[in-house]
Amino acid sequence: MAVDLHSHSTASDGSEKPAALIEQALEIGLTALALTDHDTQGGIADAKLAADPTELELIPGTELSLEYDEGGMHLVVLWLEPGPGPLQDRLLELRHGRDRRNEMMAHRLTELGMPVSAAEILEEGGSGSIGRPHIAAVMVRKAYVETIEEAFELWLTSGKPAYIGRPRLPPEEAIQLARASGGVPILAHPHTLGINRAHEMANLLTRLIPAGLVGIEAFCAGYRRHEREGYADLARRFGLVPAGGSDFHGAYKPGLSLGTGYGDLVVPDSVVDELRSHAGVR
Ligand code: AMP
Ligand code: ZN
Ligand code: FE
Ligand code: FE
Repeated sequence: MAVDLHSHSTASDGSEKPAALIEQALEIGLTALALTDHDTQGGIADAKLAADPTELELIPGTELSLEYDEGGMHLVVLWLEPGPGPLQDRLLELRHGRDRRNEMMAHRLTELGMPVSAAEILEEGGSGSIGRPHIAAVMVRKAYVETIEEAFELWLTSGKPAYIGRPRLPPEEAIQLARASGGVPILAHPHTLGINRAHEMANLLTRLIPAGLVGIEAFCAGYRRHEREGYADLARRFGLVPAGGSDFHGAYKPGLSLGTGYGDLVVPDSVVDELRSHAGVR
């Protein structure tokens, strides 16, 4: 039995509606799906409505980008119930930070000779948590670039001319807020940390575990088998649960499927019960 513990819908930068994700998850026979839209739980209510009459377990979640200069550090938080709460309340501030940043990036792109307006980005992103994939899609639509990937490579990633950062939570604080909210914090797609020495990874985990980190993603799309096994071993050595998912974004990540990733991903359902045992423990 397989699950998917990392996915995005139209509530952030996925192209598919929450209900469509539930439908796809059922079609491919997943037993659990976590909806982890960036900085928002705006899709959870619709996902629950669609999942409730079915056998599929919908795990409410979100994904946060954290302060970490050495690389990209993302935190997936599972079993975070929508509504008021220590972390839930902070999501609103993070979305305001996104809005200001999107306006600044539109301005920067315009200065660079590629006119993009905040209104065009809003139109692409809809009512959800809007970010760079939407900006990239506008750039494709206006023929400034051919693909979303090209928009990132030439303009939108850190260090490129149109990149602008946004407010992020410090890692320990995000993990503590997640636990204080009853959620289960998991270090996402660890390769983006930019760490390639074992002792650096050990130092980082030694910092994050006392804050309350529960898991680290090992089952990621695009990882080779030895990488999945390596991260799963690392997790176990540190008393963490190896987690993972497809990081499905629909059309914003072409070729990547829910559940199976690039075709060879299997996230075992056994990790769900292990992770769940930490939910609601404050
Ligand atoms: P943001 O949250 O606005 O900073 O944008 C982050 C999103 O951009 C994530 O969903 C990533 O998957 C996506 N992203 C980051 N780098 C790339 C890339 N090189 N190509 C395509 N998508 C990317
Ligand atoms: Zn995303
Ligand atoms: Fe991520
Ligand atoms: Fe993600």
